[in-house]
Amino acid sequence: MKLNELNIAEAYEGLRKKEFSSVELTKAYLDRIKKTDEKIKSFITITEDVALEQAKQADKRISKNEESELLGIPCSIKDVINTKGILTTAASNILNNHISSYDATLILMLKKQGMVMLGKVNCDAFAHGASTENSDFFISHNPWDTERVPGGSSGGSSSSVSSGQCMYSIGTDTGGSIRQPAAFCGLIGLKPTYGRISRYGLISMTSSTDCPSIMAKNVMDAAIILEKIAGIDKKDSTTSNNKVDNYKEFLKDENIKDLKIGIPKEYFIKELNDDIKEAVQSAIKKIESLGAKIVEISLPHTKYAVPTYYIITPCEVSSNLARFDGIRYGFSANETGKVKNLLDVYTKSRGNGFGSEAKRRIMLGTYALSSGYYDAYYLKAQKVRALIIQDFKDAFENVDLMLAPTTPNVAFKIGEHSDNPLEMYMEDIFLSAVSLAGLPAISIPCGFAKPKDGEKNMPIGMQIIGKPFDEKNIFKLANVYEKNTKWNKCSVFHTKC
Ligand code: GLN
Repeated sequence: MKLNELNIAEAYEGLRKKEFSSVELTKAYLDRIKKTDEKIKSFITITEDVALEQAKQADKRISKNEESELLGIPCSIKDVINTKGILTTAASNILNNHISSYDATLILMLKKQGMVMLGKVNCDAFAHGASTENSDFFISHNPWDTERVPGGSSGGSSSSVSSGQCMYSIGTDTGGSIRQPAAFCGLIGLKPTYGRISRYGLISMTSSTDCPSIMAKNVMDAAIILEKIAGIDKKDSTTSNNKVDNYKEFLKDENIKDLKIGIPKEYFIKELNDDIKEAVQSAIKKIESLGAKIVEISLPHTKYAVPTYYIITPCEVSSNLARFDGIRYGFSANETGKVKNLLDVYTKSRGNGFGSEAKRRIMLGTYALSSGYYDAYYLKAQKVRALIIQDFKDAFENVDLMLAPTTPNVAFKIGEHSDNPLEMYMEDIFLSAVSLAGLPAISIPCGFAKPKDGEKNMPIGMQIIGKPFDEKNIFKLANVYEKNTKWNKCSVFHTKC
């Protein structure tokens, strides 16, 4: 098998047996990036020198028999995560020259493990979107069919992992941004419980739902990564001191007979594509045949999740983006020499620096928070959010996990929704509720479908949703399903399945 097709566990073996070094592995990935990125367009910044130096250091540590599974493994990082001394743009023009002055906590944790960072990957600007079409720089392409989007906002993460440009990627999921691109590219996307991984060093979007998240090739890899970057951080008071489980050990248990799985009926609506419905239903049957108990459940407020999310998110976005004023970070109209006074610096920096989606969210959020409208919009949305959370609490009294489709459709064509923000928002229909409730969820491949407007088979994802901090049972079910189906063996390298 070629180096670019390895998963973390296989690379760990190869590195320890001295079949190849981390420098060789890293060069193979850099080479692949050079050969494919003109077409795929995952990377905003390629950090070749950093990667090769990190790989060299990793080889030294490996020769001293250090054990970490991530030691010397090449990855990509979404460009909303601060990486000291390296360009960090959030895919936005307003940060097009912003060099991070510090590392996010999760980056420090990965460095300790001996990460090899190949570069910073594209996303929708400030993570607002579901396709990377809102990136201020360029659109990333789906390696399964380059006329289609790789999903978003972590679309550079999904395109880089699925095209063999890196072994895993760290992105963020605020309202679906890791699960949806994972589904579109046939990958594992894990959004952990809110507070499981520190948000310190993320460029904030919606602080009450932002979650650093993991894009990987298989369940075991995702479990390995989570174990290394989860945990309490004194720099993020919303992190939890809940114990971080030894997920890898837990995955050895493949008995799912004790698991009771709820199927929320509100997720099987008429808008759901027939092929996806069929794929998820056959996955449910498979899981039942493997011993788990399946029951139908109801989450009655599901239909309010997208409207609620799209009130709360712009509100938080409008305040989080207030810090980009042309003075403190990034692009400043002051440097153009065409400003009259301070107000002019603010308005021209923001006016020219933000793209249309960021502006849309700033305006919607400022309106919904303004005096006279606050009660009608923001407060009302928070009340509905409480009902959505209660739905999950009630349902989880009777089940251990839930299973649902990740998206209503497979990856859509570039340009298909880009003129219609509402259509784009509806792509989040199965994702927003989980984010509002802060729950952990994984998207895992469960089949393929040929879109009506295309010739190529595109991957389908399904979502396993868990109780707060119960990532271990999500991994367990996902792992058993993965091992008993063929979907994990399919990749852009092996499409005949
Ligand atoms: N599609 C959602 C949005 O545009 C999700 C974004 C995210 O999770 N970062 O808000």
